[in-house]
Amino acid sequence: MVDKAGPRGPNIYAAGPLDRADDRRLDEGWQAARLADPETQFVALWRSRNLVSLPSGARPQANGLGALWLDRSGAESLIAEARDQVFLGLQEQRAYIALDLSHLPEETAEALVGADGSFRDLREVGPLLPPDEASVLAYARGLLFWHSRHRHCGVCGSPTVSAQAGHIRRCSNPDCGASHFPRTDPAVIMLVHDGATRCVLGRQKVWPPGMHSTLAGFVETGESLEDAVAREVEEEVGLRLEAIRYHSSQPWPFPSSIMLGFIAEARYAPLRVHPEELESAAWFERDTLLNSPEDERFKLPRVDSIARRLIQDWLEEG
Ligand SMILES: [Zn+2]
Repeated sequence: MVDKAGPRGPNIYAAGPLDRADDRRLDEGWQAARLADPETQFVALWRSRNLVSLPSGARPQANGLGALWLDRSGAESLIAEARDQVFLGLQEQRAYIALDLSHLPEETAEALVGADGSFRDLREVGPLLPPDEASVLAYARGLLFWHSRHRHCGVCGSPTVSAQAGHIRRCSNPDCGASHFPRTDPAVIMLVHDGATRCVLGRQKVWPPGMHSTLAGFVETGESLEDAVAREVEEEVGLRLEAIRYHSSQPWPFPSSIMLGFIAEARYAPLRVHPEELESAAWFERDTLLNSPEDERFKLPRVDSIARRLIQDWLEEG
């Protein structure tokens, strides 16, 4: 059996608990029965925000925070209103279905879900959720975002309709009939070190004050992953890599990426920072990072990110 977790456990949002049961997506009778099944669990989204067990206006805290699942009776009015319904999968024979309420005004959507929950950005609450729930919510968010951006056919411009339990959209124009599949945009992210005690971290102007992170960028058409790693490092800081090794990956549906993590080695040399890509970048000593003050002068990336994981693993290797 493949060890999906790796020695330190899976990245957050990866290794979700659901059996995606893709062989059931074409079975419309079975899908209709799941929709009516009192055991089925529903999770609602509004404009890429997930429904969590937090009253409107309350500050998120890890203690007791979770996804707000609704059963068939609790979700009745949401099912009637939902713009899209997507079958996510099964856990212990119980189906999980995501409902999209994005077409409604915010007050209407919030009124439908009641006082026990509110729609929150997973980037805010994700690190505070139990990991299994965070991955299901990330999956739902990514898939419903894709639906929201593919309501018209990219071939002929006609409206598309959801099919296969929400895992495909089909053009409604019978002369076209094109099928559109959910997409994920690959991005590479890499910890560059010098083979000894230093690694490269940079920062972008738009990041929270003090935050420094690994280099990253989207894979372009016609590139391999290792091509993209080498190109991004050279573009951003002017270093030529001597070795690249794959580390792990992380679904990152903010809005639709998968982060492909690498550890790369380059000979120590002064950096040539590209001013349009980064506000700053520098070599940092391992000891500096181990003693990071985690304040507005210097902090490492958020704990749910693969960037943090890459840095942490490199620090522990030393
Ligand atoms: Zn079409």
